[in-house]
Amino acid sequence: MKNIVIIGGGFAGAYITKKLEKNKDFNITLIDTKNYYEFTPGILRTLVYPKHAKKIQILHTNYLKKSRVLVEHVRKITDKEAITNNHKVKFDYLIICSGSSYNAPFKEKDLINLTRTKHIRDYHEELEKAKRIVIIGGGIVGTELTGEVIDFYKKEKSKEITIIHKHDKLMERNNKKTAKYTEKFLKKHNVNIIYNEKALSYKNNLVKTDKNREIKADLIFLCTGITPNSEFIPKNWLNNTNQVNVNEFFQVSDNKNNKQYKNIFAAGDITSIKEEKLAQNAEIHAKHVIKNLKLLENNQELKPYRPDKRIMVISLGKFNGVFEYKNLVITGLFPGLLKSLIEWKTMIRYK
Ligand SMILES: Cc1cc2nc3c(=O)[nH]c(=O)nc-3n(C[C@H](O)[C@H](O)[C@H](O)COP(=O)(O)OP(=O)(O)OC[C@H]3O[C@@H](n4cnc5c(N)ncnc54)[C@H](O)[C@@H]3O)c2cc1C
Repeated sequence: MKNIVIIGGGFAGAYITKKLEKNKDFNITLIDTKNYYEFTPGILRTLVYPKHAKKIQILHTNYLKKSRVLVEHVRKITDKEAITNNHKVKFDYLIICSGSSYNAPFKEKDLINLTRTKHIRDYHEELEKAKRIVIIGGGIVGTELTGEVIDFYKKEKSKEITIIHKHDKLMERNNKKTAKYTEKFLKKHNVNIIYNEKALSYKNNLVKTDKNREIKADLIFLCTGITPNSEFIPKNWLNNTNQVNVNEFFQVSDNKNNKQYKNIFAAGDITSIKEEKLAQNAEIHAKHVIKNLKLLENNQELKPYRPDKRIMVISLGKFNGVFEYKNLVITGLFPGLLKSLIEWKTMIRYK
Protein backbone atom coordinates (compact mmCIF):
# COMPACT_ATOMS: atom_id res chain seq x y z
CA MET A 1 0.00 0.00 0.00
CA LYS A 2 1.28 3.45 -0.89
CA ASN A 3 0.58 6.33 1.49
CA ILE A 4 -0.77 9.42 -0.23
CA VAL A 5 -1.16 12.69 1.65
CA ILE A 6 -3.33 15.43 0.14
CA ILE A 7 -3.18 18.90 1.67
CA GLY A 8 -6.32 21.00 1.17
CA GLY A 9 -9.89 19.91 0.46
CA GLY A 10 -10.94 22.55 -2.07
CA PHE A 11 -11.60 22.05 -5.79
CA ALA A 12 -8.35 20.20 -6.50
CA GLY A 13 -7.86 18.33 -3.20
CA ALA A 14 -11.44 17.07 -2.78
CA TYR A 15 -11.55 15.87 -6.38
CA ILE A 16 -8.24 14.02 -6.13
CA THR A 17 -9.08 12.42 -2.78
CA LYS A 18 -12.48 11.19 -3.94
CA LYS A 19 -11.07 9.69 -7.13
CA LEU A 20 -7.92 8.13 -5.70
CA GLU A 21 -9.59 6.51 -2.70
CA LYS A 22 -11.27 4.08 -5.11
CA ASN A 23 -7.87 2.54 -5.77
CA LYS A 24 -7.21 -0.29 -3.31
CA ASP A 25 -3.44 0.18 -3.55
CA PHE A 26 -3.59 3.64 -1.99
CA ASN A 27 -3.95 4.61 1.63
CA ILE A 28 -5.10 8.21 1.63
CA THR A 29 -5.01 11.02 4.20
CA LEU A 30 -6.69 14.34 3.44
CA ILE A 31 -5.55 17.19 5.68
CA ASP A 32 -7.69 20.32 5.52
CA THR A 33 -8.11 23.29 7.85
CA LYS A 34 -11.85 23.06 7.15
CA ASN A 35 -14.07 20.03 7.79
CA TYR A 36 -16.03 20.57 4.57
CA TYR A 37 -15.83 21.17 0.84
CA GLU A 38 -17.38 24.41 -0.39
CA PHE A 39 -18.26 25.47 -3.94
CA THR A 40 -16.65 28.92 -3.65
CA PRO A 41 -18.33 30.57 -6.69
CA GLY A 42 -21.71 29.96 -5.02
CA ILE A 43 -20.76 31.88 -1.87
CA LEU A 44 -21.81 35.22 -3.35
CA ARG A 45 -25.40 34.02 -3.63
CA THR A 46 -25.43 32.89 0.01
CA LEU A 47 -24.99 36.50 1.12
CA VAL A 48 -28.46 37.27 -0.22
CA TYR A 49 -29.93 33.77 0.27
CA PRO A 50 -28.16 32.36 3.39
CA LYS A 51 -30.06 29.08 3.04
CA HIS A 52 -28.23 28.52 -0.23
CA ALA A 53 -25.12 27.65 1.87
CA LYS A 54 -26.54 24.16 2.48
CA LYS A 55 -26.50 23.51 -1.25
CA ILE A 56 -22.84 24.39 -1.74
CA GLN A 57 -21.21 22.74 1.25
CA ILE A 58 -20.61 19.13 2.20
CA LEU A 59 -18.60 17.58 5.02
CA HIS A 60 -15.50 15.73 3.83
CA THR A 61 -16.56 12.73 5.88
CA ASN A 62 -19.87 12.58 3.98
CA TYR A 63 -18.45 12.12 0.49
CA LEU A 64 -15.25 10.26 1.35
CA LYS A 65 -15.77 6.59 2.12
CA LYS A 66 -12.28 5.28 2.87
CA SER A 67 -9.88 8.16 3.30
CA ARG A 68 -8.62 9.35 6.64
CA VAL A 69 -9.57 13.01 7.18
CA LEU A 70 -7.57 15.25 9.51
CA VAL A 71 -9.10 18.67 10.17
CA GLU A 72 -5.86 20.40 11.00
CA HIS A 73 -3.45 23.01 9.78
CA VAL A 74 -0.32 21.66 8.10
CA ARG A 75 2.50 23.62 9.72
CA LYS A 76 5.46 22.19 7.86
CA ILE A 77 6.33 19.72 5.14
CA THR A 78 9.54 17.92 4.36
CA ASP A 79 10.25 15.55 1.47
CA LYS A 80 8.99 12.68 3.67
CA GLU A 81 6.20 13.93 5.92
CA ALA A 82 3.47 16.50 6.49
CA ILE A 83 3.48 17.94 10.00
CA THR A 84 0.49 19.35 11.89
CA ASN A 85 0.28 20.31 15.58
CA ASN A 86 -0.82 16.76 16.43
CA HIS A 87 0.45 14.51 13.67
CA LYS A 88 3.44 13.67 11.53
CA VAL A 89 2.06 11.90 8.48
CA LYS A 90 4.59 10.03 6.33
CA PHE A 91 3.94 9.79 2.62
CA ASP A 92 5.04 8.00 -0.53
CA TYR A 93 3.23 10.67 -2.54
CA LEU A 94 2.33 14.20 -1.45
CA ILE A 95 -0.18 16.37 -3.33
CA ILE A 96 -0.29 20.03 -2.30
CA CYS A 97 -3.69 21.61 -2.99
CA SER A 98 -3.69 24.36 -0.35
CA GLY A 99 -5.12 26.95 -2.76
CA SER A 100 -5.44 30.58 -1.94
CA SER A 101 -7.03 32.93 0.57
CA TYR A 102 -9.47 35.70 -0.23
CA ASN A 103 -11.07 38.27 2.01
CA ALA A 104 -13.90 37.26 4.35
CA PRO A 105 -16.69 36.41 3.93
CA PHE A 106 -15.88 35.01 0.48
CA LYS A 107 -13.31 32.41 1.53
CA GLU A 108 -12.42 31.44 5.07
CA LYS A 109 -9.91 29.02 6.54
CA ASP A 110 -9.89 27.27 9.93
CA LEU A 111 -13.61 26.85 10.13
CA ILE A 112 -16.03 24.14 10.92
CA ASN A 113 -19.14 24.11 8.80
CA LEU A 114 -21.45 25.46 11.55
CA THR A 115 -19.30 28.53 12.19
CA ARG A 116 -19.17 29.24 8.47
CA THR A 117 -22.98 29.10 8.25
CA LYS A 118 -23.25 31.56 11.14
CA HIS A 119 -20.76 33.97 9.53
CA ILE A 120 -22.77 33.95 6.31
CA ARG A 121 -25.98 34.67 8.21
CA ASP A 122 -24.30 37.54 10.10
CA TYR A 123 -23.14 39.10 6.83
CA HIS A 124 -26.61 38.69 5.36
CA GLU A 125 -28.12 40.58 8.30
CA GLU A 126 -25.60 43.41 7.79
CA LEU A 127 -26.47 43.49 4.12
CA GLU A 128 -30.20 43.64 4.88
CA LYS A 129 -29.70 46.71 7.07
CA ALA A 130 -27.20 48.50 4.80
CA LYS A 131 -28.37 51.28 2.48
CA ARG A 132 -25.02 52.44 1.12
CA ILE A 133 -22.75 49.61 -0.03
CA VAL A 134 -19.22 50.10 -1.32
CA ILE A 135 -17.56 47.30 -3.24
CA ILE A 136 -13.82 47.72 -3.57
CA GLY A 137 -12.66 45.95 -6.73
CA GLY A 138 -14.49 45.54 -10.03
CA GLY A 139 -13.04 42.15 -10.92
CA ILE A 140 -15.18 39.04 -11.27
CA VAL A 141 -15.94 38.72 -7.55
CA GLY A 142 -16.94 42.39 -7.10
CA THR A 143 -19.04 42.35 -10.25
CA GLU A 144 -20.82 39.07 -9.46
CA LEU A 145 -21.51 40.23 -5.91
CA THR A 146 -23.06 43.45 -7.24
CA GLY A 147 -25.18 41.34 -9.60
CA GLU A 148 -26.51 39.24 -6.71
CA VAL A 149 -27.38 42.29 -4.60
CA ILE A 150 -29.13 44.06 -7.50
CA ASP A 151 -31.11 40.93 -8.35
CA PHE A 152 -32.25 40.26 -4.78
CA TYR A 153 -33.21 43.83 -3.87
CA LYS A 154 -34.49 44.91 -7.29
CA LYS A 155 -38.11 45.40 -6.18
CA GLU A 156 -37.29 47.52 -3.15
CA LYS A 157 -34.51 49.45 -4.91
CA SER A 158 -33.21 49.98 -1.37
CA LYS A 159 -29.46 49.76 -1.98
CA GLU A 160 -27.09 52.40 -3.27
CA ILE A 161 -24.07 50.56 -4.63
CA THR A 162 -20.69 52.05 -5.51
CA ILE A 163 -17.88 50.05 -7.09
CA ILE A 164 -14.35 51.45 -6.87
CA HIS A 165 -12.07 49.93 -9.47
CA LYS A 166 -8.44 50.83 -10.08
CA HIS A 167 -8.59 49.95 -13.81
CA ASP A 168 -10.44 51.66 -16.65
CA LYS A 169 -12.89 48.81 -17.21
CA LEU A 170 -14.53 46.07 -15.16
CA MET A 171 -12.88 42.60 -15.22
CA GLU A 172 -10.01 44.04 -17.24
CA ARG A 173 -8.46 40.65 -18.08
CA ASN A 174 -11.66 39.45 -19.74
CA ASN A 175 -13.04 40.15 -23.19
CA LYS A 176 -13.90 43.82 -23.83
CA LYS A 177 -17.47 42.85 -24.75
CA THR A 178 -17.89 41.25 -21.30
CA ALA A 179 -16.87 44.50 -19.59
CA LYS A 180 -19.13 46.57 -21.83
CA TYR A 181 -22.23 44.43 -21.28
CA THR A 182 -21.64 44.27 -17.55
CA GLU A 183 -21.12 48.00 -17.22
CA LYS A 184 -24.35 48.67 -19.11
CA PHE A 185 -26.24 46.21 -16.90
CA LEU A 186 -24.89 47.68 -13.65
CA LYS A 187 -25.50 51.28 -14.73
CA LYS A 188 -29.07 50.43 -15.71
CA HIS A 189 -29.51 49.39 -12.08
CA ASN A 190 -28.03 52.68 -10.86
CA VAL A 191 -24.70 51.29 -9.70
CA ASN A 192 -22.11 54.03 -9.43
CA ILE A 193 -18.82 52.81 -10.93
CA ILE A 194 -15.67 54.77 -10.18
CA TYR A 195 -12.82 53.81 -12.51
CA ASN A 196 -9.08 54.48 -12.27
CA GLU A 197 -9.21 55.02 -8.53
CA LYS A 198 -7.75 53.01 -5.72
CA ALA A 199 -9.22 52.66 -2.23
CA LEU A 200 -6.47 53.52 0.24
CA SER A 201 -8.36 53.00 3.49
CA TYR A 202 -11.77 51.72 4.53
CA LYS A 203 -12.05 52.27 8.26
CA ASN A 204 -15.06 53.43 10.32
CA ASN A 205 -17.45 53.06 7.39
CA LEU A 206 -15.50 55.60 5.35
CA VAL A 207 -13.63 54.76 2.17
CA LYS A 208 -10.81 57.10 1.14
CA THR A 209 -9.34 56.86 -2.34
CA ASP A 210 -6.04 57.92 -3.88
CA LYS A 211 -7.86 60.81 -5.57
CA ASN A 212 -8.91 62.27 -2.21
CA ARG A 213 -12.48 61.08 -2.60
CA GLU A 214 -14.33 60.07 0.57
CA ILE A 215 -17.36 57.79 0.43
CA LYS A 216 -19.55 56.92 3.42
CA ALA A 217 -20.79 53.37 3.53
CA ASP A 218 -22.93 51.20 5.80
CA LEU A 219 -21.19 48.11 4.47
CA ILE A 220 -17.91 47.64 2.63
CA PHE A 221 -16.87 44.51 0.72
CA LEU A 222 -13.23 44.09 -0.18
CA CYS A 223 -13.13 42.18 -3.46
CA THR A 224 -9.46 42.30 -4.34
CA GLY A 225 -6.39 40.08 -4.51
CA ILE A 226 -5.78 36.43 -3.73
CA THR A 227 -2.95 35.16 -1.53
CA PRO A 228 -1.41 31.68 -1.97
CA ASN A 229 -1.67 29.46 1.14
CA SER A 230 2.01 28.59 1.21
CA GLU A 231 3.26 29.50 4.72
CA PHE A 232 4.07 25.84 5.48
CA ILE A 233 5.88 25.06 2.22
CA PRO A 234 9.71 25.15 2.06
CA LYS A 235 10.83 28.52 0.65
CA ASN A 236 12.98 26.83 -2.01
CA TRP A 237 9.86 25.33 -3.57
CA LEU A 238 8.20 28.72 -4.04
CA ASN A 239 8.50 31.39 -6.73
CA ASN A 240 8.69 35.10 -5.92
CA THR A 241 4.90 35.35 -5.55
CA ASN A 242 4.81 32.43 -3.10
CA GLN A 243 3.31 29.91 -5.50
CA VAL A 244 4.71 26.38 -5.70
CA ASN A 245 7.03 25.81 -8.65
CA VAL A 246 5.79 22.88 -10.73
CA ASN A 247 6.94 21.38 -14.00
CA GLU A 248 4.60 20.52 -16.88
CA PHE A 249 3.66 17.28 -15.06
CA PHE A 250 2.67 19.14 -11.84
CA GLN A 251 5.73 17.79 -10.01
CA VAL A 252 7.19 20.19 -7.48
CA SER A 253 10.67 21.55 -8.02
CA ASP A 254 13.23 23.08 -5.73
CA ASN A 255 14.63 25.64 -8.13
CA LYS A 256 17.38 26.83 -5.79
CA ASN A 257 18.96 23.38 -5.57
CA ASN A 258 17.94 22.31 -9.05
CA LYS A 259 15.99 19.38 -7.65
CA GLN A 260 12.81 17.84 -9.03
CA TYR A 261 10.59 15.81 -6.69
CA LYS A 262 9.05 12.93 -8.60
CA ASN A 263 6.60 12.00 -5.86
CA ILE A 264 5.47 15.49 -4.79
CA PHE A 265 2.75 17.12 -6.87
CA ALA A 266 0.79 20.38 -6.58
CA ALA A 267 -2.49 21.41 -8.21
CA GLY A 268 -4.87 24.37 -8.28
CA ASP A 269 -4.42 28.00 -7.21
CA ILE A 270 -1.22 27.20 -5.30
CA THR A 271 0.75 26.36 -8.44
CA SER A 272 3.06 28.67 -10.39
CA ILE A 273 1.24 27.89 -13.66
CA LYS A 274 0.57 31.10 -15.55
CA GLU A 275 -3.19 31.14 -16.10
CA GLU A 276 -6.33 32.51 -14.40
CA LYS A 277 -6.74 31.07 -10.93
CA LEU A 278 -10.07 29.35 -11.46
CA ALA A 279 -11.99 26.48 -9.93
CA GLN A 280 -12.33 24.81 -13.31
CA ASN A 281 -8.55 25.02 -13.84
CA ALA A 282 -7.99 23.52 -10.38
CA GLU A 283 -10.17 20.55 -11.37
CA ILE A 284 -8.37 20.11 -14.69
CA HIS A 285 -5.06 20.12 -12.78
CA ALA A 286 -6.53 17.54 -10.41
CA LYS A 287 -7.37 15.21 -13.31
CA HIS A 288 -3.85 15.56 -14.70
CA VAL A 289 -2.24 14.86 -11.33
CA ILE A 290 -4.32 11.70 -10.89
CA LYS A 291 -3.32 10.51 -14.35
CA ASN A 292 0.38 11.28 -13.86
CA LEU A 293 0.52 9.68 -10.43
CA LYS A 294 -0.92 6.48 -11.87
CA LEU A 295 1.46 6.61 -14.85
CA LEU A 296 4.37 7.05 -12.45
CA GLU A 297 3.20 4.03 -10.46
CA ASN A 298 3.24 1.98 -13.67
CA ASN A 299 6.66 3.33 -14.76
CA GLN A 300 5.11 4.97 -17.80
CA GLU A 301 5.81 8.30 -19.42
CA LEU A 302 3.97 11.23 -17.79
CA LYS A 303 1.52 13.44 -19.66
CA PRO A 304 2.38 17.15 -19.94
CA TYR A 305 -0.15 19.91 -19.18
CA ARG A 306 -0.65 22.92 -21.45
CA PRO A 307 -2.34 25.99 -19.93
CA ASP A 308 -5.10 27.41 -22.12
CA LYS A 309 -7.83 30.05 -22.19
CA ARG A 310 -10.99 28.36 -20.99
CA ILE A 311 -14.70 29.07 -20.95
CA MET A 312 -15.76 31.55 -18.29
CA VAL A 313 -19.26 32.05 -16.99
CA ILE A 314 -19.94 35.20 -15.01
CA SER A 315 -23.28 35.58 -13.27
CA LEU A 316 -25.19 38.83 -12.75
CA GLY A 317 -27.78 37.47 -10.34
CA LYS A 318 -29.82 34.33 -10.92
CA PHE A 319 -31.11 35.11 -14.39
CA ASN A 320 -28.44 37.09 -16.18
CA GLY A 321 -24.78 36.68 -16.97
CA VAL A 322 -21.99 36.45 -19.51
CA PHE A 323 -20.52 33.39 -21.21
CA GLU A 324 -17.08 33.97 -22.65
CA TYR A 325 -14.77 31.78 -24.68
CA LYS A 326 -11.88 33.54 -26.44
CA ASN A 327 -13.67 35.96 -28.78
CA LEU A 328 -17.15 34.54 -28.33
CA VAL A 329 -19.32 36.36 -25.80
CA ILE A 330 -22.94 35.38 -25.08
CA THR A 331 -24.98 37.45 -22.66
CA GLY A 332 -28.33 37.25 -20.89
CA LEU A 333 -30.42 34.44 -19.42
CA PHE A 334 -28.47 31.43 -20.78
CA PRO A 335 -25.17 32.19 -18.96
CA GLY A 336 -27.08 33.04 -15.77
CA LEU A 337 -28.77 29.63 -15.80
CA LEU A 338 -25.58 27.88 -16.91
CA LYS A 339 -23.77 29.11 -13.80
CA SER A 340 -26.43 27.51 -11.58
CA LEU A 341 -26.20 24.32 -13.62
CA ILE A 342 -22.39 24.17 -13.13
CA GLU A 343 -22.90 24.53 -9.38
CA TRP A 344 -25.52 21.76 -9.31
CA LYS A 345 -23.37 19.47 -11.47
CA THR A 346 -20.33 19.97 -9.24
CA MET A 347 -22.21 19.42 -6.00
CA ILE A 348 -24.09 16.34 -7.21
CA ARG A 349 -20.69 14.67 -7.58
CA TYR A 350 -20.18 14.94 -3.82
CA LYS A 351 -23.70 13.93 -2.70
C1 LIG B 1 -15.79 34.69 -4.27
C2 LIG B 1 -15.10 33.86 -5.32
C3 LIG B 1 -15.78 33.51 -6.46
C4 LIG B 1 -15.16 32.70 -7.43
N1 LIG B 1 -15.85 32.36 -8.55
C5 LIG B 1 -15.30 31.54 -9.46
C6 LIG B 1 -16.03 31.12 -10.60
O1 LIG B 1 -17.16 31.55 -10.82
N2 LIG B 1 -15.46 30.24 -11.44
C7 LIG B 1 -14.21 29.73 -11.25
O2 LIG B 1 -13.75 28.90 -12.06
N3 LIG B 1 -13.47 30.13 -10.17
C8 LIG B 1 -13.98 31.02 -9.28
N4 LIG B 1 -13.25 31.41 -8.18
C9 LIG B 1 -11.88 30.91 -7.99
C10 LIG B 1 -11.89 29.52 -7.32
O3 LIG B 1 -12.65 29.57 -6.14
C11 LIG B 1 -10.48 29.06 -7.02
O4 LIG B 1 -9.74 29.06 -8.22
C12 LIG B 1 -10.50 27.65 -6.41
O5 LIG B 1 -11.09 27.71 -5.13
C13 LIG B 1 -9.11 27.04 -6.32
O6 LIG B 1 -9.23 25.73 -5.86
P1 LIG B 1 -8.03 25.02 -5.05
O7 LIG B 1 -8.44 23.61 -4.85
O8 LIG B 1 -6.75 25.28 -5.73
O9 LIG B 1 -7.93 25.77 -3.66
P2 LIG B 1 -9.00 26.22 -2.60
O10 LIG B 1 -10.37 26.11 -3.11
O11 LIG B 1 -8.50 27.54 -2.11
O12 LIG B 1 -8.85 25.14 -1.43
C14 LIG B 1 -7.71 25.06 -0.64
C15 LIG B 1 -8.00 24.28 0.62
O13 LIG B 1 -6.77 24.10 1.33
C16 LIG B 1 -6.97 24.40 2.71
N5 LIG B 1 -5.67 24.80 3.30
C17 LIG B 1 -4.98 25.95 3.11
N6 LIG B 1 -3.85 25.95 3.82
C18 LIG B 1 -3.83 24.77 4.50
C19 LIG B 1 -2.93 24.17 5.44
N7 LIG B 1 -1.81 24.80 5.84
N8 LIG B 1 -3.23 22.95 5.94
C20 LIG B 1 -4.35 22.29 5.54
N9 LIG B 1 -5.25 22.82 4.68
C21 LIG B 1 -4.99 24.03 4.16
C22 LIG B 1 -8.00 25.54 2.65
O14 LIG B 1 -8.69 25.73 3.86
C23 LIG B 1 -8.94 25.02 1.56
O15 LIG B 1 -9.90 24.13 2.07
C24 LIG B 1 -13.83 32.25 -7.23
C25 LIG B 1 -13.14 32.64 -6.06
C26 LIG B 1 -13.76 33.45 -5.11
C27 LIG B 1 -13.00 33.84 -3.87
